[in-house]
Amino acid sequence: MMALEKYRDKRDFDRTPEPGGQLVGEGGSRFVVHRHQARHLHYDFRLEIDGALKSWAVPKGVPLEPGVKRLAVQVEDHPVAYIDFTGQIPEGQYGAGTVEIWDNGKFELVKREADYIELTLKGSKLSGEYVLLHTDGKNWLLFKRKVDRR
Ligand code: MN
Repeated sequence: MMALEKYRDKRDFDRTPEPGGQLVGEGGSRFVVHRHQARHLHYDFRLEIDGALKSWAVPKGVPLEPGVKRLAVQVEDHPVAYIDFTGQIPEGQYGAGTVEIWDNGKFELVKREADYIELTLKGSKLSGEYVLLHTDGKNWLLFKRKVDRR
């Protein structure tokens, strides 16, 4: 299927321990934040949507508090099986380095448009209302919403 071709094209599954994976049915609602110590440390924010993991690389990490906007660069969809992946990607392979789970949990979509995704995260470290706002190209902004309490 089309959605994971970029993911597969970048990897040699004889050499990397990452899952090959395939699209699965819709209805998932899990998220993960991977801490990926590659050439440059970054965090990968992944949402289970449409049978794959929509993924963004967040160089400075997902903010814990409102008022902090972080660049989130959209990367190729990953297979849902990647949600549990941790391990070592060998030297010479795409994304070589160490992948750990920084946080995970469930989410609820509040609003989903082409350039705007609003969701409620229910993780161990991350909780509350978050927004992904497309700016240009592969670039999005990721931030925690201030919730009005009246
Ligand atoms: Mn990464």
